Amino acid sequence: MRFPLRLTYDLSCYIAGNRMKKIEKFPLVLMLEPTHLCNLACSGCGRIREYADTIEKMMSLEECLHSVDECPAPIVTITGGEPLLYPQITELVAEVLARGKHIQFCTNAILLQEYLPKLPLHPNLTLNIHLDGLEETHDRILERKGAFKSVIEAIIEAKRLGFRVCTNTTIFRNTDLIEIEMLFSKLTDLGVDGILVAPGFDYEAVGEEIFLVRKDIERKFREVFEMSQRFRFWSTPMYLRFLKGEKALQCTPWGNPTRNPLGWKAPCYLITDAHYPTFAEMMEKTDWSRYGVGRDDRCAQCMMHCGFEPTVVGEIAKSWKDVVEMAVWNLT
Ligand code: SF4
Ligand code: SF4
Repeated sequence: MRFPLRLTYDLSCYIAGNRMKKIEKFPLVLMLEPTHLCNLACSGCGRIREYADTIEKMMSLEECLHSVDECPAPIVTITGGEPLLYPQITELVAEVLARGKHIQFCTNAILLQEYLPKLPLHPNLTLNIHLDGLEETHDRILERKGAFKSVIEAIIEAKRLGFRVCTNTTIFRNTDLIEIEMLFSKLTDLGVDGILVAPGFDYEAVGEEIFLVRKDIERKFREVFEMSQRFRFWSTPMYLRFLKGEKALQCTPWGNPTRNPLGWKAPCYLITDAHYPTFAEMMEKTDWSRYGVGRDDRCAQCMMHCGFEPTVVGEIAKSWKDVVEMAVWNLT
């Protein structure tokens, strides 16, 4: 099975429960950023640039846990910054798991080997490792020589210890897809459990022309879709068909709400118009009709998984064909 049975079951029950209660807008994945501090300065990173003035701010452990309790999403992505720089990271992981949530732990893996013995081997914990190419490319994008080597060593050790590991690759304007295929082949040999892939988002704060525009995304992802037939992708088939221009979707910005040291970020993980003190206030006060492709210029080129994979979940319930496709895909 592609996704763990427990995750599939918990997510299905949560979605069905919301549908039965006729709740129209509900979150699927809480993006928790306890700190924006990072030990890298990657070329395409919007976070460290957007939050440069507040980068030293951190959420307390209590604030993090209160956020997890406020937001009903069954999955918590712990991200940043680099979450391994958060001083109480092991306590945070343990407490989130104790609440029955599933964790996607996003890391650049520079410190991961050192932390593996401190992280629990728990069925609800997945290590999600950032990897943008083979050695030369990855080290260039992360602006750190040896970063690729650290990732590979960390993946080997994590798999040896029995952790579930997935990788997360961003496709940029200059990404060479032959190289990406070689990378996925290598990751498959290393035994990674899943591969996530998405086009980069054109963060205003980055201000460099490294991101793809919509037409180019669709062209590049026709090839990436072919790869999804050969490698164990965790990006869903419907999302990949959207990326290659075969399916029209509108985003679901509340699907992955983001909590960081400044508050609940609105309207979405990618663009920021406000920070709210509570999850409920953010959901209530955000004028969702203002956002999405065709409604806000900043959304024009966005095809990111955090905005559109939650839409896929909503669409599946509307079509038996999609339900069957997803079920078969998850079982293979
Ligand atoms: S590792 Fe992540 S948070 Fe750190 S600079 Fe790179 S993209 Fe940004
Ligand atoms: S299109 Fe993208 S950037 Fe715009 S609101 Fe949706 S997820 Fe956010």
